[in-house]
Amino acid sequence: MSGTITNPPLADPRSTAGFSRGLVAGLLDTVETALVVAERSGRIVLMNARARKSLGVELSAEPGINLFTGLLEVDARQIFREIECGKHEVRLEVGRGGEKFLANVQWMPEPDWVVVQLQRQQDVQQVRDPATQITVQELLQEREITYRNLLAAYLKLQEVNRQKTVFLASAAHELKTPLAVIKGYYDLMLAGSLGKLTDKQRDILEESKESCERLVRLVSMFLNYSALESGKLVLQLRENDLRDCLDEVAKRWSEAFQRKGVKLEASLDPSIPNFRFDYQKVQQAAANLLDNALKHTPTGGMVTLHAGPHFWERRVAEVAPIQERRRFRLPRPNSVEIAVADSGPGIPAEHHQEIFEDFVRVDRNTTGMGLGLAIAKRLIQAHRGKIWVESEPAGGSKFTFLLPMDQS
Ligand code: ADP
Repeated sequence: MSGTITNPPLADPRSTAGFSRGLVAGLLDTVETALVVAERSGRIVLMNARARKSLGVELSAEPGINLFTGLLEVDARQIFREIECGKHEVRLEVGRGGEKFLANVQWMPEPDWVVVQLQRQQDVQQVRDPATQITVQELLQEREITYRNLLAAYLKLQEVNRQKTVFLASAAHELKTPLAVIKGYYDLMLAGSLGKLTDKQRDILEESKESCERLVRLVSMFLNYSALESGKLVLQLRENDLRDCLDEVAKRWSEAFQRKGVKLEASLDPSIPNFRFDYQKVQQAAANLLDNALKHTPTGGMVTLHAGPHFWERRVAEVAPIQERRRFRLPRPNSVEIAVADSGPGIPAEHHQEIFEDFVRVDRNTTGMGLGLAIAKRLIQAHRGKIWVESEPAGGSKFTFLLPMDQS
């Protein structure tokens, strides 16, 4: 059986609560469920697009179909009897165009309308079909198993990686004592305690001692890294003077700079207030930057270490409108900016991100393990700070890091 129907004018315009009929009909058309709305008499008020399609009802000006007699083929009195007996909804089986539908009939007392939801029996069965349910269940189980396997593999890899780091760290640790002994003997010999040295012997010993020191630095760099890797990074936050902290590092490095003939200049702003930070860790980060600057700056070059108060506008402010930003702009600097700039060869822009990753080295002509910047980054991030580089090839490099002053 097929019929034709259009959505006739709404029976009671008040019930549309100020919405136009077109709007209500349009809204119902967006609903995936087939819906038919009718008056108590069976006169159809609305029928959405899904219902028209499922029931094969054309949308044209023929409002003659009665819900009860024309569509549901049921006695309306039977429906209302059940509703009056307190039934919230009445379910029916409806045959139409060779297909079977399940109709869910509900009554809306306020406008006295009947609302019918229609579902193809075939679709309902498919959802209830145990075979389909098993397939879904199986798929979910399979996904769960894959997820568990992946997690297990990931944890295993992590453990293997941890064991590798622990092994390398203990090997590195074993190197520390003999290196300290060798360096001690170099110092003794160079001080003349073991007899007078010729100039040639002194030169050779100086060079050997330098190599030994480089090895000590590499070993301690790796030990620092493995300590960070095994989750041993605990900040010792105390109220400290950053100028003292950086001044000590600059002094410690001044001899190495002099030896290479590179000028080191420190400008540490006296207005930096004391704030909470980990003294040793900040020294370590600054030392790694100075180490790099010295390594990459040729003799006759210059390196500057600068520190000063800084206003750090955090990312949340970027999305706020300008007026808001001005309103919340802090009156005082909230961080300290520390920068190490050199007059070395610079770093091409494509390496600016990756050089902060573990074991990444760009310049193969210098010694190192590609860990100095990775360690510095971890230490600074542990302080909730950030680090970046600005550099032009042949224009020197400037590494800057920010430390927030509100460490809790
Ligand atoms: P490494 O200990 O091997 O120097 P880093 O993590 O400290 O490792 O540095 C990674 C790479 O970044 C280096 O191999 C080098 O190519 C580049 N680099 C770091 N600092 C400088 C600098 N001041 N000038 C030029 N290149 C630099």
